[in-house]
Amino acid sequence: GQCVLVCPTGALGERDETDRALDYICDPDLVTVVQFAPAVRVAFGEEFGMPPGTNVEGQIIAACRKIGVDVVLDTNFAADVVIMEEGTELLKRLKEGRRPTFTSCCPAWINFAEIHYPEILSMLSSTKSPQQVLSTIAKTYLPEKLGVDPSRIRVISVMPCVAKKDEAVRPQFVHDGQPETDLVLTTREFARLLRREGIDLKDMEPSTFDVPYMSAYSGAGAIFGTTGGVMEAAVRTIYAVVNGRELDRIELTQLRGFDGIREASVDLGGPVGKVKVAMVHGLGDTRALVESVLSGQADYDFIEVMACPGGCVDGGGSLRSKKAYLPLALKRRETIYDVDRQAKVRQSHNNPQVQALYREFLEAPNSEIAHRLLHTHYQDRRHALEHTVKEIWDDITMST
Ligand code: SF4
Repeated sequence: GQCVLVCPTGALGERDETDRALDYICDPDLVTVVQFAPAVRVAFGEEFGMPPGTNVEGQIIAACRKIGVDVVLDTNFAADVVIMEEGTELLKRLKEGRRPTFTSCCPAWINFAEIHYPEILSMLSSTKSPQQVLSTIAKTYLPEKLGVDPSRIRVISVMPCVAKKDEAVRPQFVHDGQPETDLVLTTREFARLLRREGIDLKDMEPSTFDVPYMSAYSGAGAIFGTTGGVMEAAVRTIYAVVNGRELDRIELTQLRGFDGIREASVDLGGPVGKVKVAMVHGLGDTRALVESVLSGQADYDFIEVMACPGGCVDGGGSLRSKKAYLPLALKRRETIYDVDRQAKVRQSHNNPQVQALYREFLEAPNSEIAHRLLHTHYQDRRHALEHTVKEIWDDITMST
């Protein structure tokens, strides 16, 4: 296919993979799992002419069932798991005096760090992104739940993001030739897939998840889709871990907003006390912030980075605002905050399905098994910048 769009790092083109998705779905020997990201449900209705920011979670679930998907799961659930892992990791690093810690859920940011700033890789959280966490659990915990062989599972992700395709094929996420995530569709591709199958989302009667695992989410998991959301979700849980009680005021408005770089001081209480956090989005501001960390000017404990201005609500795989942040991202963000407000559970650690996952399978956040399955490592890829493809190729062929 023709490359019509590029990811924020400029390294990727978008391929249409709806054929492969249908191959999986139609193969009777396979168990097809679909997951969709926090931002997808608020950015997808527009593909079918619905007003910007409409929450179409229920219609997406119904449409997946109609085309024959076996199990529909929610990346929001995995966002809650990420908070358990990353929050625990952050507390440990704070105790060790290691600061700052950068979030690791945005693969365009990871690519950028590996290629342009490998000296900061040790500051990146080792927790996998929600997409990879969901896929990993879908091939370990889920087969036990379903009573099927893991080799029969295929995971299709629907993402607002082109860089997630690249993330899915990182060598760290492919084991013996088997990827954790088998296929990533952008929201645009998913819309094409549904149209090909004759489905108009507007005609779908909203449905709900029908399995009692890997699909429930807290309000904290839901807000991952917007800039500042990962930070807010993390603070809600870390505060509870440190103090043994929930934050009085759950909505941390000081972490919200659309400025390129925002900073705040958050009192986590107990022995941890006040921490300095920053939220940055857009690669220009990210570069500026990384430079100030490296020069010693910036003084932060925890930094959230999203490559797309506005975060995933305005991701490169979905219909985008013409002018940054307006009007699509704002409407989508408002819907995401509404989802949080209406959620019965608003903190990741209180999600009963997350509690069950740890009780039945992972034991505890950052346990040995959690580390093995849900954490990753990063690679210095500066050579990708300093050498031409021909030089890299010559180097490989001459040394073998
Ligand atoms: Fe993808 Fe953009 Fe979200 Fe990063 S911020 S995960 S590049 S959609």
